[in-house]
Amino acid sequence: MRHKPLNNFFSDNKFIGSYLEYNKIPIFDKPEVCFIGRSNVGKSSLINRITKNKKLAKTSKTPGRTQSINLFSISNKLIFADLPGYGFASFPETLKKKLYYLIRNYIEKRIFLKNVFLLIDGKIGIKESDLETINFFIKKNISFAVILTKIDKCKKDLLNNNIKEIKNLLNNNSSNHYNIFSTSSFRNEGIKDIQKNIYGLAKE
Ligand code: GDP
Repeated sequence: MRHKPLNNFFSDNKFIGSYLEYNKIPIFDKPEVCFIGRSNVGKSSLINRITKNKKLAKTSKTPGRTQSINLFSISNKLIFADLPGYGFASFPETLKKKLYYLIRNYIEKRIFLKNVFLLIDGKIGIKESDLETINFFIKKNISFAVILTKIDKCKKDLLNNNIKEIKNLLNNNSSNHYNIFSTSSFRNEGIKDIQKNIYGLAKE
């Protein structure tokens, strides 16, 4: 597929709503993908890049500000779900618990969910909270892909080591194949590969 139709597909987007409780989230008879990761991983910036919309997912300097699940419609064919960031140490325990159940309920129960994109900072690599998330996906047989973010600020050797660590972890724990995308929202790197992948899921 050429570049332009892909960008057109993703730039035809609109905000559907923001949901604090799982059972309030409307169900659409359309394929859905979601984005998840630690707070400040660069999730909003990435969604804005994919959708060519500077404001769709609000980028924030304050980590952990988004505590709800935000839905967006893409070209009336596909749903994006922006999940709350996790692993934000200074959250009160009650809020952490609430977000934990919101995220797990969503991932386990959402019937049209085609794929989860798990974002990991290319420089920081996998943290304990990411490991817990990955183990949950594997245990529940959830289809997911890893997106490494902010690779512009990460030396090649470190990035390659982090990729190797993730590959080893996934190979040791599952017989499934998982994609790993390397991206920089700042430099618009790796975005097209993700668009292509999601576009493919929408067509299935
Ligand atoms: P979120 O909390 O996961 O939604 O992350 P944001 O998209 O709000 O980004 C968190 C911080 O990382 C912000 O200060 C962004 O400017 C920065 N950031 C996001 N994407 C990139 C990137 O590709 N490269 C670099 N160097 N910084 C980024």
